[in-house]
Amino acid sequence: MLELKGAVKRYSGGGSIFKKRWLTALDHLSLTVRRGEFFSLVGESGCGKSTLARIVAGLENLDDGELHFDGRRVPDISIFKDRQMRRRVQMIFQDPYSSLNPRMRVGDILREPLRSFGWGDAPAIEKRVVELAEIIRFPLSTLERYPHQFSGGQRQRIAIARAIAATPEVLICDEPVSALDVSIKGQIINLLIDIQEQLGVTILFISHDLSLVSKISDRVGVMYLGRIVEIGDAASVFSDPRHPYTRVLLDAIPTVNRDGRRQGAPLAGEVPSPFAIPTACRFRDRCSLAFDKCAIEEPGLDAVASTRAHYAACHLRDRAQPRKAAADPPRIPGVEIFYTNTSEHQPSNLAKETA
Ligand code: SF4
Repeated sequence: MLELKGAVKRYSGGGSIFKKRWLTALDHLSLTVRRGEFFSLVGESGCGKSTLARIVAGLENLDDGELHFDGRRVPDISIFKDRQMRRRVQMIFQDPYSSLNPRMRVGDILREPLRSFGWGDAPAIEKRVVELAEIIRFPLSTLERYPHQFSGGQRQRIAIARAIAATPEVLICDEPVSALDVSIKGQIINLLIDIQEQLGVTILFISHDLSLVSKISDRVGVMYLGRIVEIGDAASVFSDPRHPYTRVLLDAIPTVNRDGRRQGAPLAGEVPSPFAIPTACRFRDRCSLAFDKCAIEEPGLDAVASTRAHYAACHLRDRAQPRKAAADPPRIPGVEIFYTNTSEHQPSNLAKETA
C-alpha cells in the first residue's frame, strides 16, 4: 500500500553561509506497509518517526528517494495538491486539543471533509455524519456542541471520525494516545482496531510505547537515527528481537513483579546528534555487543536466517540474545483493558464515556 525507497529528509540547522549544518531526519530509509495491516513504527523521540508520518501524509516533501502509494510513484507535493490523494491518506495527530477548530460545532467538523471531498448532496452528507457518530458512539445531540465541551478522549474520537469521514485507505496515527489518560487510551485503541477491521483501512501507527505496540500490531518497524534497524512480524520482533537497540528498548519497559517492585533496565547513553550520525553502525556508541567490524562496515537490513519475515540491521542478527529484564511479553499495570489485534473483540464501552 505504501513504500518508501531510499527516503532522505534533512533540515537546515544553522551554521554559516559558507558551511550550513544539516539535521538528518530520514537517512536513506526504505519501508513497505502492506494493504490492510496495522503497522507500528517505534523508536525514541527524535528518531524521525513523525517526519516519516508527515511525508507519507503529504505534508512535507522528500529531499531524495521515492514514495509509492498503491503501487504508483507519488510525485512531490502531489498528495497535498491532489484532492483524491488527500482523501485516500488521512492523519490523526497527537494533540486532540489543538487539532480541532474550536469555533466549529462537532457536526460541522464532520461535514467539512465530506463537502471538501465531494461526498454527495446534503442528505447523503447528513446520513454519513449520523454513521460517523454511531462509529464513535456519540449521541446525535452532542453534534451541536463545541470541542471544548468534551474530554481529551472524546476530542480524539471526534478527530478520528473526521479522519475516516471520507473513507480513507491509509490512516496515519502520530502518537494518538500519548496525551491521554491510561483508561482512555484503551478506548481509543479499541476504536482504531474496530475501524481497521470494519473498514479494512491500512494503519500506520507511530508510537514510542512498545508495550502498547506489542499488543495491537501486525508488523512493527524500529527506527534509530533516521533508519529502520529492525522490522518484521510483531510477534517475532517482540519475542525474539535481533537488534541490540530493540532489545534495550524492550528491557527498558517498566514492569511490576508480584512484590510490587518495578523492573526494567534504563536505556544507556545518549542518542548521537542527528547533525553528525556515526559512520558504519550508527548504534555502535551505545551497543554493548559492538566489535571491530561495527566501526568499519555498515550492517544492511537483512533477513534473520531462521525467518523470512524478520529483518535486522546488525552484524550479529543471527545470534539470538536473551533479554535482561522480563522474558515475558512486556506489560504495564493498568493497560489490561487493551484488546489484542484479533477478531475476538469484546463489546466496547465507548458509550459509557460519552454519557
Ligand atoms: Fe551492535 Fe555491531 Fe550490531 Fe551495530 S552491528 S548493533 S554495533 S553488534
